[in-house]
Amino acid sequence: MKGWAGETPETPEQFLAELERRAEADKARKVSSETPSGQPAHVSGWPEGVIARYLTVGGAKVDVTDTDEHPEAVCGGCPQTFTRNSRYISGSLDTVHRWAQEHAEKCRALPRPEAGGR
Ligand SMILES: [Zn+2]
Repeated sequence: MKGWAGETPETPEQFLAELERRAEADKARKVSSETPSGQPAHVSGWPEGVIARYLTVGGAKVDVTDTDEHPEAVCGGCPQTFTRNSRYISGSLDTVHRWAQEHAEKCRALPRPEAGGR
């Protein structure tokens, strides 16, 4: 009997197999937590509607939201936002992601301290 309960695998092959097995189990868990519509489940800690976050060089976060087909990016450090009505080229979610990425690379504004934060 080769039960590994409470033991560490002895050979690199066993170790890799064990890692793979855990990765598979992890993947299965993630898939099952998704909603039937294929939308990713709400990620705890993120505001509702936020589908992506970009960390700025200043340590703030640029939140990308996609609600009611109006993709939007909002910087948590400075007043800048990117919306369909901005002076930038409006449109696709792709553009919003690109703006968020570029802004995150430049923005050095510090995030506002949150209540109960550091
Ligand atoms: Zn900013």
